[in-house]
Amino acid sequence: MDFKTLICDLAAPGVRDLSPYRPGKPISELQRELGLPEIVKLASNENPAGPSPVAVSALLEQVPEIARYPDGNGFLLKNAIAVHLNVPFECITLGNGSNDVLELLVRAFVTSSEEIIYSEYAFAVYPILAKAVNAASQVSKSLHWGHDLAAMRSAVNNRTRMVFIANPNNPTGTWLTAEELHAFMRDISPSVIVVLDEAYFEYASNPLTNATGYPTDSHQWLDAYPNLVVTRTFSKAYGLAGLRVGYSLSHPDIADMLNRVRQPFNANSLALCAAEAVLSDHKYLQTSVSQNARGLKQLTTGLRQLGLNYIPSVANFICVDMAMPAKSIYHALLEYGVIVRPLGPYSMPNHLRISIGTPDEMVKFLKILKLILMRIKAD
Ligand SMILES: *Cc1c(COP(=O)(O)O)cnc(C)c1O
Repeated sequence: MDFKTLICDLAAPGVRDLSPYRPGKPISELQRELGLPEIVKLASNENPAGPSPVAVSALLEQVPEIARYPDGNGFLLKNAIAVHLNVPFECITLGNGSNDVLELLVRAFVTSSEEIIYSEYAFAVYPILAKAVNAASQVSKSLHWGHDLAAMRSAVNNRTRMVFIANPNNPTGTWLTAEELHAFMRDISPSVIVVLDEAYFEYASNPLTNATGYPTDSHQWLDAYPNLVVTRTFSKAYGLAGLRVGYSLSHPDIADMLNRVRQPFNANSLALCAAEAVLSDHKYLQTSVSQNARGLKQLTTGLRQLGLNYIPSVANFICVDMAMPAKSIYHALLEYGVIVRPLGPYSMPNHLRISIGTPDEMVKFLKILKLILMRIKAD
């Protein structure tokens, strides 16, 4: 038996045929490959404005302390979140990105004899987390590229332990209304944990984004629905993706279980203090959201001019239908130094996901895309 086969046999059952999450291509990697000085990365829904200066100076102040372990309880950040959202401190669980909290949820509650439910075209991390613990996944059919809550509800059976709902969804940008979510929560058994992944909450909940009916107060629903877990992050609108910090809001008894499987110091000290600082930088958040709203308009206008269809989005990215297999367009864009996200892994081979960049980046992207499309037409 060769070593590869042996190792594969030794791996935990779910891990054997697990394919890892494919992140957006890093800028440095494309620079190495092409030697291009200027890369435009529109592939990972990062904040194009760069970090908040308030967060940066808080972080720099913390640097001399990094020989010490962080506060394992994350007191100051949890306290700031509790005040910011008017939720009890005990509801909050911090993570090394909200991805970490999603993993804690699965590890704490889902075993190989249980199932999770998520939607077709939903965030690719959910099936990976389920697979890692060898749990079964039920993929519910989408409705207009978004979640079909009725279908998800009827997929529930006595093995269902967890349902993932991304609102807005990544990569499609679709959203569910408060009314739809209330109806779903009222109807579902309290023994099914519903994870409402709100990584783009700060964009979608802002009136500038015009997400009609989007719930702006889901963090206040925990009393009504003790089986609800809301997850949010500092990676997107708060501009701290590289630091890795996110959190969940849940019933304290759920938080207690997450705390049992959590690494003692899962959120690092620089992340904790930068996140605490950015929470108070209201100007940064407001500017991020308003620039994003303008960027969405700029991009959708440009796409329409190119005759391309897209899925209406309330997040910081747009899912575009290229009306042909999009992989070749993805590669052509790379040659011009533009990184976007091909959606083959999401079974959306004709779509590309474009993150909202700066106005200049959007102009450059649209110009290059036009050129590529003209070249394809001419062939
Ligand atoms: C980006 C994203 C996350 C997680 O991001 P973190 O950086 O780990 O906080 C979670 N869910 C969705 C839907 C996302 O798009």
